[in-house]
Amino acid sequence: MQTIRGFRDILPEKISLWQKVEKEATHLFKSFGFKEIRIPILEKTELFARSIGVVTDIVEKEMYTFEDRKGDKLTLRPEATASIVRSYIQHKMYAKDPIRKFYMIGPMFRRERPQKGRYRQFYQIDAEIFGVESAYVDSQLIFLLNELFKRLGLTGLSAHINSLGCPECRPSFQKALLDFIELKKDSLCENCLRRMDKNPLRILDCKIVDCKKALADAPATLDHLCHDCSSHFDTVKTTLEKQGLDFIVDKSLVRGLDYYTRTAWEIQTTALGAQSAVAGGGRYDGLVKELGGPQTPAIGFAIGFDRLVEIMEQIDNKKEARTIDLFIVSLGDLAMEKGYHWSLELNQAGIRTEMDFRGKSMKALMKRADKLKAQYVLIAREDELKKKTVVIRNMNTKEQVLLAIETLVPELIKIFNK
Ligand code: AMP
Repeated sequence: MQTIRGFRDILPEKISLWQKVEKEATHLFKSFGFKEIRIPILEKTELFARSIGVVTDIVEKEMYTFEDRKGDKLTLRPEATASIVRSYIQHKMYAKDPIRKFYMIGPMFRRERPQKGRYRQFYQIDAEIFGVESAYVDSQLIFLLNELFKRLGLTGLSAHINSLGCPECRPSFQKALLDFIELKKDSLCENCLRRMDKNPLRILDCKIVDCKKALADAPATLDHLCHDCSSHFDTVKTTLEKQGLDFIVDKSLVRGLDYYTRTAWEIQTTALGAQSAVAGGGRYDGLVKELGGPQTPAIGFAIGFDRLVEIMEQIDNKKEARTIDLFIVSLGDLAMEKGYHWSLELNQAGIRTEMDFRGKSMKALMKRADKLKAQYVLIAREDELKKKTVVIRNMNTKEQVLLAIETLVPELIKIFNK
């Protein structure tokens, strides 16, 4: 007997990274005031059809739907937001306190074509905030995602952001889009043509290369934002800038679901081959009302847990190849003496530290560090030592930081014990 296609076991020898992520994520969520919520794996099909949208890839062809013995149509959850919104409404959480922050971690099910990084049962780490319209919450969630990835040691990620507008700006955008599509009709696939009447925005999400080409200059929601949506998006951008967070405004980012309004974003990576998203999120200010609750702004994101672990495995494999933790490059007599004592203290603390006592040049010593596959290099130069600092270089990321020599050893121990 074998697992079903697109489904897999996560074996004990692979579990440590999953647990590390869960621990970091839970810790971070708690410090931002999120509470855990656990929702059923099975829901009424109607919940997903009404929230995600009937004319979407997920609802049209990816859901695991079946009738139970009584003939009720049920679906294995393809995402978490719809269920969390249902729960918020069902338990009238808004009555006691409309402002709620939830997180959940668990499996989702989509019958997509299995390929690297894409499974039919996959895991998501999900966060949602209800009851806050402010753009600060948008940038706060993007900050939180970035912080989690930073703590997990991920690099080379890029944040793509866009604004999808609101029901007020949609009609003008839809008209412009339909006029454009009318001209490109001959180059579009059947699916796109079918979606023209039902949900033209979805056409922008088509993955077929010819459609993508034909739609390259399609009108963008960003050019049709109403005053409020425009100033909301400006606040998100300037806040992210002030947080020192790099981002790319991506007019073509529409995300696959119907319920999004205003800010939508994806964190993308090239670490898994082709460009792919490791997390995605957005605002959905209309969904609570749409599903029968009071008007409540809301926003959330989902991290692809499987992809996240795959990226971390790559980083871990690289680390494995590195045989020592730290190589000390000492230039000059004073540096040699200091370096010698630091290396002893670090060895004592269990950190694999090496240095070279032959008085070689910087270039030769860096070569030696490379040969020994050092994870970090400490560079001690006489002039910097006079300023009571040394440079620490991460050989994986090439990042360099200055550390004060007074607290050097405890700082290094902290870095290596992380
Ligand atoms: P979505 O709910 O489609 O925005 O997905 C959020 C994140 O979940 C994506 O950025 C992916 O990292 C991950 N994800 C979505 N579908 C799959 C899948 N079939 N297999 C693995 N990860 C997935």
